[in-house]
Amino acid sequence: MGKSYETIFENNRKWIEEKLGQDADFFKKLAEGQSPEYLYIGCSDSRATAEELMGMKPGEVFVHRNIANLVNTLDMSSTAVIQYAVQHLKVKHIIVCGHYGCGGVKAAMTPQDFGLMNPWLRTIRDVYRLHQEELDAIKDEQLRYDRLIELNVQEQCINVIKMACVQERYILDQYPIVHGWVFDLKTGKLIDLNIDFEEILKNIQKVYDLTNSDWVMSRKNNKNF
Ligand SMILES: [Zn+2]
Repeated sequence: MGKSYETIFENNRKWIEEKLGQDADFFKKLAEGQSPEYLYIGCSDSRATAEELMGMKPGEVFVHRNIANLVNTLDMSSTAVIQYAVQHLKVKHIIVCGHYGCGGVKAAMTPQDFGLMNPWLRTIRDVYRLHQEELDAIKDEQLRYDRLIELNVQEQCINVIKMACVQERYILDQYPIVHGWVFDLKTGKLIDLNIDFEEILKNIQKVYDLTNSDWVMSRKNNKNF
């Protein structure tokens, strides 16, 4: 146990050497600040990394991870991350990335009391209820599990689009664009679910419109906005 812990610091020393070997100013530039174009919201699963699977370098992607990549209006952590990314970093793209074989989604399909995990998993059970007809029609359990993973990504994209800060920024700048992806652990492939961002935005604004376009535009000259 002690040996593997020490390995991390050894890896860190090697990483520093490698980075400085490529660019002597690497850490000087890193310390100057960040302006990532992407916000990645993914699962905490140790196999579904963010930067590595996208081939991104430090500074290129703002990351939030939790169990089953959920965006919940009562979860201050994801809400604050999205607000900061949209309002201050002004990211161009928000990616919700699920992964096949997600343990959180599997647990939500299991009729069992998971204690403190129940309220978290209920968000996924709600996705099931919303799409029950489609899911129950899939007889193969593995295929039904895969489909719930995709539908969960889609619903979390919708939860992102429901947020006032996202709607406001889009009115002002025509970004961020929200994307739904799934990572396939068995092949390493990223699959774009091709969610129709503009169509979803238009539809949900019938109920969740938290902006008034005229009012937003009138504040456009405010440099803090
Ligand atoms: Zn997962």
